[in-house]
Amino acid sequence: MNTFQDSNSAQSRPSDDVAFVPTRAAGLARLEAFLPRAAKHYATRRNYALGPSDCSTVSALSPWIRHRLISEEEVLEHTIARHGLEAAMAFIQEVFWRSYFKGWLEQHPSVWKSYQEELQRARDALDQNTHRRTDYQSAVRGQTGIACFDHWCHELKLTGYLHNHIRMWFASIWIFTLRLPWHLGADFFLRNLIDGDPASNTLSWRWVAGLHTKGKHYLARPDNIAKFTQGMFNPAGQLARDAEALVEGCDHPFVSLNVTPTWLPSDSLHVVTAEDCTPEQVLSDTNTGTIGLSCLTTEHQSALVQSFKQGAVRDALMRQDKPYDMVETDTWADAILEASETAGTSHVATAFTPVGPIASKLTAARDRLSKKGVTLTLVPRRYDLVTWPHATKGFFKLKKKIPQILADQGL
Ligand SMILES: Cc1cc2nc3c(=O)[nH]c(=O)nc-3n(C[C@H](O)[C@H](O)[C@H](O)COP(=O)(O)OP(=O)(O)OC[C@H]3O[C@@H](n4cnc5c(N)ncnc54)[C@H](O)[C@@H]3O)c2cc1C
Repeated sequence: MNTFQDSNSAQSRPSDDVAFVPTRAAGLARLEAFLPRAAKHYATRRNYALGPSDCSTVSALSPWIRHRLISEEEVLEHTIARHGLEAAMAFIQEVFWRSYFKGWLEQHPSVWKSYQEELQRARDALDQNTHRRTDYQSAVRGQTGIACFDHWCHELKLTGYLHNHIRMWFASIWIFTLRLPWHLGADFFLRNLIDGDPASNTLSWRWVAGLHTKGKHYLARPDNIAKFTQGMFNPAGQLARDAEALVEGCDHPFVSLNVTPTWLPSDSLHVVTAEDCTPEQVLSDTNTGTIGLSCLTTEHQSALVQSFKQGAVRDALMRQDKPYDMVETDTWADAILEASETAGTSHVATAFTPVGPIASKLTAARDRLSKKGVTLTLVPRRYDLVTWPHATKGFFKLKKKIPQILADQGL
């Protein structure tokens, strides 16, 4: 069994081919290396979680796709070109899960708002409840005594990545065995996952809890863990065997999408954020310069997460014709105003930012910019425009549309 007790030992470190380098070139190279396994191998092996030194059952592409260093369209295009639609359907459907969650959250934004409020409440409760605080600290320190859970906790902190099946087991143990609030677990993931994503993360935790598909929750079973870790772990007798799905006292109303194709003035200043690091695929060729914006370093994200995000924005900037410096700040309006003045334009454009902290920052900046006569335009990707309208209910509704969406995209 691998161990993370001694995180300096060569054995406990992730191997080089699962290191996450925040460049588009590295993402494309990972895609190229994975493609031969994207059809039958992925379909039959993807549920096996063999540890951080062996990501061969999955693609481990999520850090790049999440920041759009490589796009969903590119991943789909290369996969279909190599294998055709039918043979690679299992993998293609997984790529669409990301689109589904993003589109769904965009149309139910109160889920993100209430998650943040409940998270604050759960954090406050930790200050007041010593038992709860001790349990929480044992969980995030990987000291619960449940060997698999503790191991995965260290693996997450060390690598910034967990296999999908491990994420499901981890969230299930957190909620139903350790009986900790799901909001704290989702927050722990967002701080430590390099691919941490408001939509996929929040909605996956809610799915495990039985809140996304109401009443249908996911209970991790020891025999399932033993099978898919190939005997590395078997927490027999340690996990909750019966537990009810969680319930919540509010509904989350459907809100129509507010995303439309947009025309851009040719003298726009382009802004790159960690939400979309191939602006050249979204924004027009003509511009007066490109500025990269990154959040100030915070304690809320691990060093691995922060350095990937900063590296990704820097990499995007380096691919632009007229790059300005990357600005690391929390007052984005000031940075944008200064750059637009230097560029001599009152038009600023960026790729559309879905629900999450970056969208909130841009919304706040937009109000200040408009007071100074500067317009901020959010330009959506065609892929999102054709996919998100189908993400209103369960995944099945979108799944049925996959062939049509791909055809619309010319794939
Ligand atoms: C509790 C929990 C929390 C999660 N949090 C995140 C998160 O913060 N960010 C994130 O990107 N994913 C999250 N996921 C989804 C999924 O686990 C990861 O996207 C996937 O494991 C990434 O690894 P991979 O690239 O090797 O995936 P592969 O299996 O190789 O899949 C290929 C691509 O398809 C997409 N994908 C696959 N499975 C899912 C899924 N279940 N949901 C959404 N997209 C998927 C990803 O873009 C992934 O890169 C979470 C899942 C769970 C159960």
